[in-house]
Amino acid sequence: MSALAAVLLAELSSGDHVLLAEELYGKTHQLFVSEGARWGLSADFVDPHSRDSLETSRQESTRMLVVETISNPMLRVADIAELASWCDSHGIVLVVDHTIASPTSFRPLEAGGSYVVESLTKFANGHSDVVLGMVCGGGDGESRVDAVIRTWGLVSSPFDCWLAERGAQTLDVRSERACGTALEIARRLEADRRVTHVRYPGLASHPDYSTAAKQFADRHGSLVACSLLGGRDAVDRFVGHVPFCPSLGESTTTVSHPLSTSHRTLGQEACRRLGIEPGTIRLSIGCEPLEEAWEMIERGLSSSG
Ligand SMILES: *Cc1c(COP(=O)(O)O)cnc(C)c1O
Repeated sequence: MSALAAVLLAELSSGDHVLLAEELYGKTHQLFVSEGARWGLSADFVDPHSRDSLETSRQESTRMLVVETISNPMLRVADIAELASWCDSHGIVLVVDHTIASPTSFRPLEAGGSYVVESLTKFANGHSDVVLGMVCGGGDGESRVDAVIRTWGLVSSPFDCWLAERGAQTLDVRSERACGTALEIARRLEADRRVTHVRYPGLASHPDYSTAAKQFADRHGSLVACSLLGGRDAVDRFVGHVPFCPSLGESTTTVSHPLSTSHRTLGQEACRRLGIEPGTIRLSIGCEPLEEAWEMIERGLSSSG
């Protein structure tokens, strides 16, 4: 979050307007909407998949668009090159939160993004032992972001940086394993009658499959979402078999229930509009062997019925 705060402080001034993708990490939403309002910023939500939505919401004072490469938990995929070219033609700074996508598969700066921010707390460090963020971009040379980080005291702990550098050394192999396993588990879930609405950007049934296929190499991330047929009660039984964790990107497979954790402040109605149901679970696939991860999920599914 301090990476995002640094970009906000470096790029925006009182009176500026910001466009936010409608399915955004809750704290990002809070940062730009509630906190931002205290600094004289205004913000509107847009559907980043619709040019109309972007055009309708753009104002003379629009300075920034904030999107996630892959959203959580419905795993919508934003077309970063498209958005970058639209932003470029209007002098808008494009900030890409790349936490959920694999940086080993796609680099948003190369597609024209102005800044990439990432929570290293998740996959990049990968061992759930740091809380740390990263910000890249801002043009050549020393950017305003460097000055902001030092003067606002957003500097990271050296020990956390050391841990994250060590974690990042294995990011490529962890990502290869976890993304491969996630694809196979998504396929198995799609064929399973105990679940519905399987969401994974590497499945042809995904609404943004063609964007994902164009944008990513063979890695579509390690999150998989689906709905358990038995609804909320089934979720309670499922989580007895797969470690429950509202965060993501651990080295082992975990499950989260967005409606009661990450998205609870949105309320049931807004969640329903996004496609988050009482029975929706979001798996974060780890680096165990495929069959080990599947065995755990299979036990959860068996008990959910
Ligand atoms: C977790 C998360 C963040 C915030 O990361 P912290 O390391 O907790 O500050 C921001 N964006 C996304 C998409 C996340 O999943």
